[in-house]
Amino acid sequence: MATLTQTRTCQIGACSDRVPATLAQQGICLDHYLDQAFARVANALEQRRKGRTLDSRTMDWLQKQGDFTVQLLAEGGPAHTPEERSRLLDLLLCLANVQEYAHQGPATW
Ligand SMILES: [Zn+2]
Repeated sequence: MATLTQTRTCQIGACSDRVPATLAQQGICLDHYLDQAFARVANALEQRRKGRTLDSRTMDWLQKQGDFTVQLLAEGGPAHTPEERSRLLDLLLCLANVQEYAHQGPATW
């Protein structure tokens, strides 16, 4: 009988990568989490460039992903490949950027 709480595999498409404990709630592997997070951050940045205000749900999400990414980096430690680490660090940077824009009020460019 399969255990539902341990070694789960990614729910996306044909992906069968292991889901890290930190991502158990999302049910996806680190690579897919990063793909989705980058897409969403890019979208938020795009909205800001167009001078739109980010809604509170997006702001909330951005805030959470910042904490979450730090947690992933800390808990994954040596388990992450150098590529995963650099993608996580990239994501942190993007999150910081978009939040900084958001706090500047309406875009002026
Ligand atoms: Zn996956």
